[in-house]
Amino acid sequence: MQASLPLTRDLVLIGGGHTHALVARMWGMTPLAGTRVTLINPGPTAPYSGMLPGHIAGHYRRQELDIDLVQLSRFAGARLILGAARAIDPVNKLIHVEGRGQIAYDVASIDIGIHAEMPDIPGFAQHATGAKPLDQYAARWRTFLARVSSGEVEPDVAVIGGGVAGMELALAMAHALQGAVGGSRVSVIEVGPEIAGRNRPTAALLARAAQAAGVAVHLNTTVKEVCAQSLTLDNGASVPSQFTVGAAGAFAHGWLSQSQLPLTDDGFVQVDESLRVKGCDGLFATGDCAHMAHAPRPKAGVFAVRAAPVLRDNLVAALSGSEMKPFRPQNDYLKLISLGGKHALAEKWGRTIAIPGLWGWKNRIDQKFMDQFRNLPTMASPPLPSPVSLGVAEELHGNGKPLCAGCGSKVAPGALDAALSATTLARREDVLSGPGDDAAILSIGGIKQVVTTDHLRAFTEDAGLFTRIAALHALGDIWSMRATPQAALLSITLPRMSEPLQRRSMTEIMHAANEVFGSENAAIVGGHSTMGAEMSLGFTVTGLCERTPITNAGARPGDALILTRPLGSGVLLAAEMQGAADGRDVAALLRTMATPQGDAAVALRMAHAMTDVTGFGLAGHLLSICRASGVRAELCLDNLPLYNGALELAEEGHFSSIYAANLAAAPVVNASGARAIFLHDPQTAGGLLAAIPQEAATDLKRELDAKGHVAAVIGTVLEGPPEIICR
Ligand SMILES: Cc1cc2nc3c(=O)[nH]c(=O)nc-3n(C[C@H](O)[C@H](O)[C@H](O)COP(=O)(O)OP(=O)(O)OC[C@H]3O[C@@H](n4cnc5c(N)ncnc54)[C@H](O)[C@@H]3O)c2cc1C
Repeated sequence: MQASLPLTRDLVLIGGGHTHALVARMWGMTPLAGTRVTLINPGPTAPYSGMLPGHIAGHYRRQELDIDLVQLSRFAGARLILGAARAIDPVNKLIHVEGRGQIAYDVASIDIGIHAEMPDIPGFAQHATGAKPLDQYAARWRTFLARVSSGEVEPDVAVIGGGVAGMELALAMAHALQGAVGGSRVSVIEVGPEIAGRNRPTAALLARAAQAAGVAVHLNTTVKEVCAQSLTLDNGASVPSQFTVGAAGAFAHGWLSQSQLPLTDDGFVQVDESLRVKGCDGLFATGDCAHMAHAPRPKAGVFAVRAAPVLRDNLVAALSGSEMKPFRPQNDYLKLISLGGKHALAEKWGRTIAIPGLWGWKNRIDQKFMDQFRNLPTMASPPLPSPVSLGVAEELHGNGKPLCAGCGSKVAPGALDAALSATTLARREDVLSGPGDDAAILSIGGIKQVVTTDHLRAFTEDAGLFTRIAALHALGDIWSMRATPQAALLSITLPRMSEPLQRRSMTEIMHAANEVFGSENAAIVGGHSTMGAEMSLGFTVTGLCERTPITNAGARPGDALILTRPLGSGVLLAAEMQGAADGRDVAALLRTMATPQGDAAVALRMAHAMTDVTGFGLAGHLLSICRASGVRAELCLDNLPLYNGALELAEEGHFSSIYAANLAAAPVVNASGARAIFLHDPQTAGGLLAAIPQEAATDLKRELDAKGHVAAVIGTVLEGPPEIICR
């Protein structure tokens, strides 16, 4: 994002398809100042279709064909909203995202591809899967292959549709099953008189490959019903199938027909030669989901790819008021069709060849495409000015890494302690306890009220998700005191933006905050909002205590220490800021951070002491318990639960800005190795850490896991001076 210039326009890319992935990459190279970019996609990755048959056949791992949209969005300076669009209102320029509400746009583009589900065939929805969306098909195929390999089911597969895609997948699945269990029964059902449509030489070569692979082809036939272990054909014949795939054409996503968009009879979005959706100001469409009336083309990735530079320029034109360009797609394109093993045929200009080396050529083309996303250019950070004050390079940890966000950018615990001990805080009778625990305890008319405040720099530009996590982070202090959330005040800083964008951001923030506090039966009672260099968000929250609050001061020797959530958010968020974290791990992290822990706090209501693990890391917050309770703690490093991907990133040297300060403030005896890093890793929306009776530990862990938390018993409270040792 252009740091200093105000944001005045919203560009929303709906779907992480081939075109949008390339547009995002181009945007990262040359962003348009003043435009906020949002990418909406159901998952953190988007599969590159060219390598799908190779993945199904077992030539590629899933990661090899996945475009990491988290890394790509970070590179493009875009915010990634993980969700599925379910409606577009082109009049009010609003996109409805499932579970997320409305996202407003000035300019938007649709690149959501097609699906290959065939719900009109009885039993299809229950017993079959479309070849598209690729994510779902690839995941179900992996599960099926594992069940076949374990002998649980027969290697019986059927593909409905004998076009190029259907034949390619049938050969790929036959090859994989051959490799896994030495054989298979793969059938292709084709309504037409021949396979692979319009090109005879291609059809002949594919038919020969099918014969060689033992793939049975049923022509001039349709499927009457899909059953769990077979298909019934229209002629009454039954074909064995434990895994049925629909590849009989490209179908438009049904939800488009619910939006006021100009669609073809079969539901594709009508666009003009500039890829603008006809009659919809500021809306574009591309790839398989679009119909180019000026140049109709088959549904092929090559057209989605070639449209990218034109779309990118036309989006810039729409946002900056300049001229549009026409997209003139090529008439024909090279089709490299894989034949199961590492063999392929090539078809273009109506001619077909099948010679050695074609698969290798296809592989090079596909790898070259994916390398664009695997090796995103690193935008070098500006060199330090010279001369520069002493200590600047050290403060940058000598590597120019950006200051972390979330709890990773807290003021150092040592600095806070020094300021607090240098200040004689005013005392009041109705203030039962002040700074030092998760929340202060006030007495109001005999009722105990706790109050706490938190403020975070944005670790995601998705304002709705950031708000949700920041609110749950603040609630962690209330829950750990065994209090019931009561009221909340917001303090919002937005990067400089125009009023319409302020309104949109504020709406997303209020929508998310109200959802979190509403579900805790707490009320938002006010707040303050300003603009500044970047987005940050704070919550001041009060809670009521029907019973004595649980503080840091009650831990007893012999207690077990239980943690309700993995560690590693500091390392993962720091690596994500560098584009170094795997998008799937980041998405899983954010999903956990966005999960409330009120139910875990209720399960832990008998704890002797409890806190939530946040900015000062596990060791920092545990040491507070040790000091307040006058006890010692022993931790087992191997029992520390870690988020996926965190350990590998820590071993690669990724850690949070505040790590060193946390380490200095809470040294741990006998701690060594990469796992020890997580003792001082700052957590955002971290887990609850409780000292509980030893005898209750096993049942509590079971209860917390049953509630969907990842609980772990990580140590024991011991007699002795306040310190932490590791074993
Ligand atoms: C087996 C097979 C092999 C193929 N091989 C080739 C080939 O070799 N060469 C070739 O040119 N073409 C090939 N194709 C065709 C190619 O797959 C498509 O033309 C191409 O994927 C179209 O790209 P796209 O950008 O339109 O959408 P897609 O690549 O399908 O991407 C759509 C994206 O939108 C997301 N999305 C879907 N719904 C929503 C929603 N509601 N909200 C937000 N996001 C959403 C999806 O998750 C996905 O990330 C093949 C197709 C198949 C089935």
